[in-house]
Amino acid sequence: MENYIKLYEATRKKLKAYQYFGWLMGWDQETEAPELSVVHRTKQFQVLAEEAYMLQSNPSFMEAIEKLYENKEQLDPDFRVEIKNAFKELRMVKKVPKDELIAYQVLTSQASQIWAKAKNEDNFEAFEPTLEKIVEFNKKLVKYLETDEMKGYDILLDMYEEGFGVKEYDLFFNTLKDELVPFVLEVTKNNNQRFSRKLTKSVWPIDKQREFSKYLLEVFDYDQKRGLLKESAHPFTSGVSTSDTRITTHYHEDNPVSAIFSTIHEMGHGIYELQCDPKYDDTFLHGGTSLGIHESQSRMAENMLGRSLSFWSVHYPKLVELFPKQLKGIDVQEWVRFINQAKRSLIRIEADELTYSLHVMVRYEIEKMLISGKLKVKDLPKKWKTLMGQYVGMKPKTDKEGVLQDIHWSGGMIGYFPTYALGSAYAAQIYESMNLEFNIDEALRNNDIKKINAWNKEHIHQFGRTKTPKEILMIATNQEFNPQYFVNYLKKKFSN
Ligand code: ZN
Repeated sequence: MENYIKLYEATRKKLKAYQYFGWLMGWDQETEAPELSVVHRTKQFQVLAEEAYMLQSNPSFMEAIEKLYENKEQLDPDFRVEIKNAFKELRMVKKVPKDELIAYQVLTSQASQIWAKAKNEDNFEAFEPTLEKIVEFNKKLVKYLETDEMKGYDILLDMYEEGFGVKEYDLFFNTLKDELVPFVLEVTKNNNQRFSRKLTKSVWPIDKQREFSKYLLEVFDYDQKRGLLKESAHPFTSGVSTSDTRITTHYHEDNPVSAIFSTIHEMGHGIYELQCDPKYDDTFLHGGTSLGIHESQSRMAENMLGRSLSFWSVHYPKLVELFPKQLKGIDVQEWVRFINQAKRSLIRIEADELTYSLHVMVRYEIEKMLISGKLKVKDLPKKWKTLMGQYVGMKPKTDKEGVLQDIHWSGGMIGYFPTYALGSAYAAQIYESMNLEFNIDEALRNNDIKKINAWNKEHIHQFGRTKTPKEILMIATNQEFNPQYFVNYLKKKFSN
């Protein structure tokens, strides 16, 4: 056992270093690197990736993981979780024929370009054969990986959110279908909100927006000795340890709202990673436990804290100070109404808080049918339109604004989308639980987000990846996942 632990730890140390260099290159690529640096960088990156793959697939390393897994009861609890995860990842190498796996990796590495072109030209047929192959591989994959306990689409869903399968998601989405869909149609039908032209037609200088983002870093107590904020085309968070977690935002001169909420959203992700217990930094247990729990932290920061009247009652004066002309005569109530508009949209990433999860539901239903064989790839565009009409109340005229809008399927990410909606629902449940311990609105009015961060650290962040999403929910809220919190939250907010 001792020898296996030593071997595992020595390999992990190297893999962590490779991961670090890859991470740094990725950050540089998205934020700083000049356009033409890509070819040279890719060559260096491939060398790193091959070295890391050789370490990972080294038979003695894989044997160490298997032996440690067989004797997992003797390991300390955190290390046991790490070995359990490592053993799970070995499934791919052990159960899927190598040539099929490599062919699939080649296919998905080329597919995003085919997808991008098809989307640009609004031509689903150009993407159809590629998507067909991706779906076929995933149908085979679930056969290779199935066990007595887990089969079909559940296997793909579990890869992104451990313990969440069709049973859990059906419960979630059926609640949305029964309660949220009719509510949304009602709210958006009577929607005749008007806003001052100042809000919709002004120019918002980017240097002032940058200043406000910096101010927000202070407000959320985002530690700038261990993190920083830059700019990129699509905002993201990139963390490697509790001493280095970086975020980006994106500024638009005609719209200040986008950057404000991108910055807050990414800070929610970033604070999660920074508040992990530092003892996990040198292990594979650092970071968020799942996509859903990660998203719960960003959505809570963005929507539940950042879009509230309590928050802006403190911070609106600062915004007015930076944009006196643009906000002249606009009071804080109008501003808060403006940033909480309910508006239906065809595009998921432009959707508001109210309808976002319904966009996700369309994708969930489709993936479920594709993997079970009830829906053929060629019938996707038609199905998409029907479901969008039923759930969101709008049908796209083109596939560009419909089934071709997201990149995910071209990368083979089937089972990923549902975590986006789950994050908001987790957030509503976690918020209620936190609010039982102290009044969150009061903390916001006292400009005391530290208190909220501390609660999240204690109940969620510190554990890193040592707990599953279900365990985290139990620790943070004392109960199992319950989507009713989310529906109640939305109904209360958007009835006003
Ligand atoms: Zn996010």
